[in-house]
Amino acid sequence: MLSINFKPATVTILTDPVRQFHFDYAGRLIGHFNHGDHYRVGLDGSILFKSSNQDAEDRYLPMSDVEYWWKEWGREWEDWRKIPEAAWKIAEFDVEPFPVSEFLNRIILFLKNIGFVHQQFLKIWGRIPILPPEFYQSVIANFTVGCSYDDCTFCTFYKDRPFQIKNIETLNDHLNEISEFFGEGLSARRDIFIGEANALASPNRRFIFLMEELQDWISEMKSLHPKFRVNRIGSFLDGFTGHLKDVEEWKMIRQSGLTDIAIGIESGSEELLKGVGKPYDPEIIILMVNRIKEAGFTLQLIFLLGLGGKQFRDSHFESSVAMIGRFNLTPEDRVQLSLFNPAISTGDYPFKGDLLSMDELDLEYTRWKSALNGLEKGISARKYPTQFFIV
Ligand code: SF4
Repeated sequence: MLSINFKPATVTILTDPVRQFHFDYAGRLIGHFNHGDHYRVGLDGSILFKSSNQDAEDRYLPMSDVEYWWKEWGREWEDWRKIPEAAWKIAEFDVEPFPVSEFLNRIILFLKNIGFVHQQFLKIWGRIPILPPEFYQSVIANFTVGCSYDDCTFCTFYKDRPFQIKNIETLNDHLNEISEFFGEGLSARRDIFIGEANALASPNRRFIFLMEELQDWISEMKSLHPKFRVNRIGSFLDGFTGHLKDVEEWKMIRQSGLTDIAIGIESGSEELLKGVGKPYDPEIIILMVNRIKEAGFTLQLIFLLGLGGKQFRDSHFESSVAMIGRFNLTPEDRVQLSLFNPAISTGDYPFKGDLLSMDELDLEYTRWKSALNGLEKGISARKYPTQFFIV
């Protein structure tokens, strides 16, 4: 017997205890578990495959496999429609009764429109090059486009778009497109991420105006979709503009509803940062981070292991650990350790001939993690594989 669980945010269909499909209320597939293998499905139709084999790396399925699975799953879902309502085992968790046949119609209709849905995704968001891990599968609301700096030699994420800050009108158009895109599926999303690379580079007044618009939109969405909740609202910050705000300004931004900030610090070595085109003064970063903490934010601090190759391996490690030791972090903050990827560096990256191998990067990860544990400040450090994520 097939089981269907109607939960406040999502619907799960179990064909047996180790094989499940998870949908949002618009009928959009979010994920599929099959005997320990996990297929995570993005809004753009991409599928991130996480194998039950712990040693296997996560990978995106190639387009031929994606098409194969959509067809296979579609056939199976059509078969479900032949099962009488009374033959389903239905469980409702804190929701009104919902006819199984209506929900199955939604998933088939969604599947029929999938090409259009993916085009809409590209029209609204385009290519999303990076997100902080805590905001995977959130609602992405872009206050800005691109990166206001865009000169780091290890990063080509936003080279295809000039930096722009949205005005109220263009933000509202964007938010309206987002509501139409998600429909009832919005309820499956619990967080909002404000993109793109550094929306917080916007002047304070403009950012707060845009936050007010976002808050109005959230209230409207909650009245339309009572199951919609927002737990956190996050954004990226760069060190070039972040240190210009004082604690009072950060508190105003916190009061506007922003809860989380992710900062690509990369390294505590001033020499290395200058060498790769991201010339921060580490003292300014420490001041900035501690001001932001004082204002009450949760932080994700991103460091890039392997940056500067073997030449900088030790000085990058030592200065970064020393810097992290001076941050006033709290248990909910995270240090995200990402691994240098030469494929996304520019032609000007100066250490192209001095790369760490994957094994050496793994050793670096172990070394950084144990040094951060050794600080005895309860710092939570994790690997941040920036190239594999699902929106
Ligand atoms: S690393 Fe960040 S600040 Fe530097 S170019 Fe890329 S997005 Fe912009």
